[in-house]
Amino acid sequence: AVERCRLMRSAAMLIPERSETTAPLLTREQGKPIAQARQEVESSADLIDWFAEEGRRVYGRIIPSRAGDVRLSVVREPVGPAAAFSPWNFPLAQAARKVGAALASGCSVILKGPEETPQALAHVVQAFHDAGVPAGVVNLVYGRPAEISAFLIPHPTIRKISFTGSTVVGKQLAALAGAHMKRATMELGGHSPTLVFEDANLDRAATLLTGFKFRNAGQVCTSPARILVHEKVYSALRDRLVERARSLNVGNGADAGVEMGPLANTRRLDAMESFVQDAVDLSGSVLTGGRRLGNEGNFFQPTILENVPREARLMSEEPFGPVMMLQPCPDFDSMVAEANRLPYGLAAYAYTRSARTAAMVTEAVESGMVSINHHGLGLPETPFGGVKDSGYGSEGGTEALESYLVSKFVTHSLVD
Ligand code: NAD
Repeated sequence: AVERCRLMRSAAMLIPERSETTAPLLTREQGKPIAQARQEVESSADLIDWFAEEGRRVYGRIIPSRAGDVRLSVVREPVGPAAAFSPWNFPLAQAARKVGAALASGCSVILKGPEETPQALAHVVQAFHDAGVPAGVVNLVYGRPAEISAFLIPHPTIRKISFTGSTVVGKQLAALAGAHMKRATMELGGHSPTLVFEDANLDRAATLLTGFKFRNAGQVCTSPARILVHEKVYSALRDRLVERARSLNVGNGADAGVEMGPLANTRRLDAMESFVQDAVDLSGSVLTGGRRLGNEGNFFQPTILENVPREARLMSEEPFGPVMMLQPCPDFDSMVAEANRLPYGLAAYAYTRSARTAAMVTEAVESGMVSINHHGLGLPETPFGGVKDSGYGSEGGTEALESYLVSKFVTHSLVD
């Protein structure tokens, strides 16, 4: 464990040292503004560093025995080689979570990286090799995702699967893992509700919500989708959000001052156009945005909609792009009912000045993560994962190590 920690920390030091090469590559491949790309380089190093340290604290335990001549103990062992499937929205950070937790637990890993954003991640993996991690411990493959998962998941060498991506694909891979009795962590889609109560600090809510929603052009599994606002403050919050969304600087992520870059691929652009069209056809109103920007690249305007009926696809499918829907609600119960309506349960947010409301909403929402009066998710030391169709297991905090470890029970009679 000590040697693993040393090697992982060396890799974690190399990654930010190479940021001036890796971050521009990430922007070029994925589109996010360069400041966000630099942040992602830093946060992937932070994740690896934290897991390195945490791996030193994987302790077993001694259980008091009922018999004087019997010793009972629990030994924590690595589950074995892991197959990890990481996505294109955070090519570095999502991979760092998986590789960090696997190595810290003593597991080697085959990482299937995102084919559309391959190179920046290859730099991060190179850092492990340059730090002296033995050959064969951290492996990176690219190819046809379905072929790779169909080969690796059933393979007898592989003992653990970790996937981040859409719920549809996650269910297929979880089923395959189940058929072969493999452990799995599934970090899947979300449709995060944000509940804004009548006592909320609206300026703060509008500023933080806008910043968080349009970060990475909304291609974030925890991105706020439905904004459920108490009707007494609905128009005041709506005006603030629209004003802030309109003022965002959208452009080439490599240019200074750009706050939102293009979408990562044309699939997302097509999805945004068809989501908005469907909502408008069903009497939804566009408050701002709603269109593609220019006719080159995958740029889409920061978009806010209201009056979107439940039948609209946007109200049940994950937007995974720069689109949010506002909805007025009469009271606490109606806000919670709407928050819990969908099969997703990844992240939920609430804005209120009342400790009582905060406590009540924390209990009432069906969600793996709850963030009150800010959007504070995703640190290495905090659990990261969902419930319901958003998946199972955790990719952060001490919980992330659990799924890479086996508790071996040993009972030893001293009578020979
Ligand atoms: P997609 O469903 O085709 O792919 C999603 C991810 O799964 C990709 O990384 C892809 O390489 C991988 N994948 C697809 N089929 C696979 C298979 N059979 N075996 C192994 N991996 C496989 O969708 P997409 O167009 O790339 O992304 C759009 C959707 O994916 C979004 O709507 C969003 O819901 C989801 N997504 C979620 C996250 C997340 O952080 N949870 C990240 C990226 C994408």
